[in-house]
Amino acid sequence: MSLENIKCPLCKSDSNEAKNKPLRKIVREELKHLIIDESYYFCSNSICEVVFFNKDMEKIFLLEDVNLFADIDEQSGCGCNNQKNGCNKSGGCCGN
Ligand SMILES: [Zn+2]
Repeated sequence: MSLENIKCPLCKSDSNEAKNKPLRKIVREELKHLIIDESYYFCSNSICEVVFFNKDMEKIFLLEDVNLFADIDEQSGCGCNNQKNGCNKSGGCCGN
């Protein structure tokens, strides 16, 4: 294979390359500055907490970081209690 097979850092599922412009529309307002001009990858696993991440896996956006969260069962979120206390880091506060 000529292309790297990028796996989700959390669930190890295959991922699909994403353009960063559409991502800016779904990411929460306060996190938009974290999206830089590089390739991102969507996790293909619909039950995984990870929505997308960059190739270096430094920036990982979870369900709670994007507006898609509204459509998804609350139980699939980060699960920590810090969301009300400013837990809005990409990658989540619980780190898993
Ligand atoms: Zn995943």
